[in-house]
Amino acid sequence: MARVYNFSAGPSMLPLEVLERAQKEMLDCNGSGQSVMEMSHRSKEYQAIIDEAEALLREIMAIPDNYKVMFLQGGASTQFSMVPLNLGNKNKKADYVITGQWAKKAHQEASRFIETNAIASSADKTFSYLPKVDKSMITPGADYVHITYNNTIYGTHYNTMPDFGDTDVVTDMSSCILSEEVDISKFGLIYAGAQKNMGPAGVTLVIAREDLIGNAAENTPIMLNYKTHSENGSMYNTPPTYGIYICKLVYEWIKNLGGISAMHEINVKKAKILYDFLDSSKMFRGTVVPEDRSLMNVPFVTDSDELNAKFIEESKKQGFVNLKGHRTVGGMRASIYNAMPVEGVEKLVAFMKDFEMNN
Ligand SMILES: *Cc1c(COP(=O)(O)O)cnc(C)c1O
Repeated sequence: MARVYNFSAGPSMLPLEVLERAQKEMLDCNGSGQSVMEMSHRSKEYQAIIDEAEALLREIMAIPDNYKVMFLQGGASTQFSMVPLNLGNKNKKADYVITGQWAKKAHQEASRFIETNAIASSADKTFSYLPKVDKSMITPGADYVHITYNNTIYGTHYNTMPDFGDTDVVTDMSSCILSEEVDISKFGLIYAGAQKNMGPAGVTLVIAREDLIGNAAENTPIMLNYKTHSENGSMYNTPPTYGIYICKLVYEWIKNLGGISAMHEINVKKAKILYDFLDSSKMFRGTVVPEDRSLMNVPFVTDSDELNAKFIEESKKQGFVNLKGHRTVGGMRASIYNAMPVEGVEKLVAFMKDFEMNN
């Protein structure tokens, strides 16, 4: 079996151990005589799976008791409207920091429901840095401020958390969830699509402080109200049962590895291998200012479109797939999420060195 090194931004690699475990349990999970896919979500077998998923997540992320965990559907993109409908109903205004396509989409969607202010943007330099933001920039009365913690397309990441004072911070952590330890209490609400760093597409994780739930606008659809899901243990309707099960296996994998701090150490090591090479190369260079670099998504370019195309073409033949950059940035992007082994990055860098020598 030849498995490739998949540098896709998402859906992306899953840990091999997780896939093998899922394979083993495919026809008979835990002596139930059924695949998890076949289980009623109301069965005690499935209840045990979702309960364990939540318990493991609370443990590895150190989620405080006054935060609710919800496993939802609709992707991170559905959160772009759920957040303003639920959290923006007090003063009907919120602030957004525009650091890329996803932040822009979150902002645009919120603008359909409440008054929004883009308090800062890095669009002037193709989102290659994070604009400095702090509490003095918050609009008086803003119900929350929204930031995209890791910008998947542009490869920026908040390496220091901005200080927004008492304003509730809502953050999109789709592409960095579980990659580093975070102090949950600094956030009002965290959301993340699973398909980058947590599991298969189809699950969206929401972690929300209790007091922010239950204040939705009157006409909020029941499925878009956090109260519906938090009161029903993510089981108001049929949840994405199999996806949540895979997430549980990923949480176990991280726990057995030594938890998120151990995971983070590996991520730092992996990213350093790639950034060190980019900083020393005469052909390749990273596109992001060093202080805002992401550990998860590493965009890079050469000075020639032909060389970029040739590199992507040749890397594919060597078993390094999905290295093409986002269409708005061009060049290349290596997404090196939790499941990418160190060896995958080492081999990629060895290949890049060869490519540089030969071209
Ligand atoms: C991928 C991504 C999204 C979109 O996620 P969907 O699950 O496809 O809706 C939103 N925000 C960020 C930061 C992402 O990386």
